[in-house]
Amino acid sequence: MSRPHLLWLRRDLRLGDHPALEAAAAPGAPVIPVFVHDPGLGGTWALGAASRWWLDGSLRALDAALRARGSRLVLRSGLAVDTLRALARETKASAVYFTRGYEPFIKPVEIALRDALAEDGVECRRFGGHILNEPEDVMNKSGEPFKVFTPYYKTVLARGEPRAPKPAPETLAAPKTWPKSENLDSWGFQPTKPDWAGGMRAAWTPGEAGAHARLQEFTTAIMRGYGESRNMPGQDGTSRLSPHLAFGEISPHQVWMAVSAAAETAGASGGAESYLREIVWREFSYQLLFHNPRLPDQAFRPEFAPFPFVEDSAGLRAWRRGRTGYPIVDAGMRQLWQTGWMHNRVRMIVASFLIKHLLIDWREGERWFWDTLVDADLANNSSSWQWVAGSGADAAPYFRIFNPVLQGEKFDAEGGYIRRFVPELAGLAPEHIHAPWNAPPAALAKAGVRLGRTYPAPIVDHAKARARALAAYEKIKQA
Ligand code: FAD
Repeated sequence: MSRPHLLWLRRDLRLGDHPALEAAAAPGAPVIPVFVHDPGLGGTWALGAASRWWLDGSLRALDAALRARGSRLVLRSGLAVDTLRALARETKASAVYFTRGYEPFIKPVEIALRDALAEDGVECRRFGGHILNEPEDVMNKSGEPFKVFTPYYKTVLARGEPRAPKPAPETLAAPKTWPKSENLDSWGFQPTKPDWAGGMRAAWTPGEAGAHARLQEFTTAIMRGYGESRNMPGQDGTSRLSPHLAFGEISPHQVWMAVSAAAETAGASGGAESYLREIVWREFSYQLLFHNPRLPDQAFRPEFAPFPFVEDSAGLRAWRRGRTGYPIVDAGMRQLWQTGWMHNRVRMIVASFLIKHLLIDWREGERWFWDTLVDADLANNSSSWQWVAGSGADAAPYFRIFNPVLQGEKFDAEGGYIRRFVPELAGLAPEHIHAPWNAPPAALAKAGVRLGRTYPAPIVDHAKARARALAAYEKIKQA
């Protein structure tokens, strides 16, 4: 029997359309799929708590799918390079295959792995598949990375349709003996005391099958109206594929193909076009992070570096807990806490509130999202936070400050989203629910709302906060 190939899985937890897996299996060699739990990998950007919860489910689903094909997932913990090297020696593997990453911390690991394996005479083969366009392949006319979305988008479209996705292998050759695997339970990815994951369990099905079921639901029932519904947090109007994409349970090629095909058959081309544009935003974020490794912790536009943020631990606490007194902000923060996800429109509102109303550093919000989002993705998270802060590439202008009341009235007119996540306001009529402090005392009494008791009074005044934010912006403009 030929020597086995190791398949190192990280954020590519699927079997379909998986170039590294396809290549590892092609010669008919036994394949040993392995996931390495390296708790220090990523340093300050090691996996957050919600991501660890998701990963647990995703690894279980992947193992089950592999077993159905005569294979299995080997779990090991330790430093990634040392662990893979040791496993290659132990199994006498002739090669290690993996999907490349784009986070700044992964490049040195990939290089160290290549060098360590070379010393042992083991081949090291790296593949794409997590994004549609490799960052090195899409440059502007001067050969520089793009900093503005629209020309990037046009260039990506001009490259033509992405390649067609490939099916999952039906069987995988197994090694003569399987190396030992650790027990996933012992990694402690599921919270126990307290178990805060109940809302996440109810909302999600991690794993490749869950991803495809959701894609199917999206293309058949949601996509047609996506152009409008994508802005309505109270509706199930977006794909909710973000955690599946973040963990590589589905490839963007699979998504692109399914959405394009559905657009032709269902005549939903408008929805498809806006949707695919978001997929290209994802690509844009990835190339930004790849070319700007400091994106997660440093203002992309250096003129924003001296921005006079304030220390406000009480404000930060109120924001995290969804107790700011602004219903749409609080609903979003509680949706995040309960389900590990927040609607994009509300992400923009809560981020703007933190940065501009509270004048708190965007990195605080970025960190909180990192720990609590099931779709935490270094590229999308850092570029989106910088986008809202005004310091990012092609960012929203800083002086455009969302009014949380108007945003609520516009995108959650009836207040259904707020009622769901802020039940203490459920009895308020639509005309009062977005600004309960302006509601007549009788309306509050009827709804059982006592401001400052059952629900907080606003922690900042919108007009004053707006003026303070604009004054802070003036300071850096003058500097
Ligand atoms: P859909 O509307 O169905 O979009 C489809 C896919 O396109 C998404 O799954 C996602 O992969 C991609 N996408 C959509 N919007 C964006 C965007 N603005 N930028 C880049 N890619 C996008 N997205 C993450 O995946 N991980 C994050 O950590 C993350 N952090 C964010 C932080 C802030 C402050 C903001 C404003 C946005 C953030 N986003 C992040 C982007 C966006 O909010 C989510 O991708 C989206 O809400 C996921 O829901 P969905 O899959 O239903 O999106």
